[in-house]
Amino acid sequence: MRIAILSQGPQLYSTRRLVEAAVARGHEVKVINPVKCYMNINMTKPSIHMAGKDLGHFDAVIPRIGASVTFYGSAVLRQLEMMGVYSVNSSIGIARSRDKLRSMQLLSRKGIGLPITGFANKPSDIPDLIDMVGGAPLVVKLLEGTQGIGVVLAETRKAAESVLEAFMGLKANIMVQEYIAEAQGADIRCFVLGDKVIAAMKRQAKPGEFRSNLHRGGSATLVKLSPQERSVALRAARTMGLNVAGVDLLRSNHGPVVMEVNSSPGLEGIEAATDKDVADAIICFIEKNANKQSKKSAEMGVC
Ligand code: ADP
Repeated sequence: MRIAILSQGPQLYSTRRLVEAAVARGHEVKVINPVKCYMNINMTKPSIHMAGKDLGHFDAVIPRIGASVTFYGSAVLRQLEMMGVYSVNSSIGIARSRDKLRSMQLLSRKGIGLPITGFANKPSDIPDLIDMVGGAPLVVKLLEGTQGIGVVLAETRKAAESVLEAFMGLKANIMVQEYIAEAQGADIRCFVLGDKVIAAMKRQAKPGEFRSNLHRGGSATLVKLSPQERSVALRAARTMGLNVAGVDLLRSNHGPVVMEVNSSPGLEGIEAATDKDVADAIICFIEKNANKQSKKSAEMGVC
């Protein structure tokens, strides 16, 4: 097959591993920086060009679109979908999961456990907003944040009020969340591929930190999931419409709660912690699914 990887970083671990795995299975792979592409949108022969050349036909695409280029990257992915190319994650699934608030609303509609979450934009609503999520301590999250940046633990009501006022003053979109203290600075990353959780790790925040992101110094170890955790992770990925997803759970007193569903989960941490060849599993999944899916989407249209 001819496989495209939409990624801005050919040198990134995840991109490199996917290239390696695809080549090892006999495929031709091209890493494409979506920002460098431009498109001809037309009825008869939609195409994508880069540096004066038509990129030609692909059988499958693996989107690894960075959060900062979601808008343009999604447009390029949609163009590939219009061209009948099988995408392991659809542009719609990616758009849903990139919007933290939209994700929470979709997951709650499906009855999936979440930390109690509030959203508001007027400073005068702050007192009720804080009460709504059960008071302090609570977590304030910037909707646009990634890798733990813009996630703040407000330990007292006073601190919560000040942080919320400051963010609202800056016109930032924020979410307020019940703090799951019993998780003790740990979360569970479930790597979903199709209808299976193929790998899972527990990430533990470094001492004095509540955010367990590996980019913030957290450490990862292999973890065994309960059947309930497995089922919640699969349902969350399905709700977003993602075949490849990193579902982040917290172990709360009231069962597993979903914090986030990531459409471009990193491979480095999970492969190291679990010793699984996740990249190879993704390529195998594409081999099994690309043919039937691309025929169907070409017939139905995918936007
Ligand atoms: P990001 O997408 O920026 O990584 P997250 O929502 O995943 O933001 O939060 C970062 C980390 O903060 C999580 O991995 C988790 O360890 C911690 N965290 C986030 N929300 C909560 C919460 N409601 N209760 C307890 N810990 C939380």
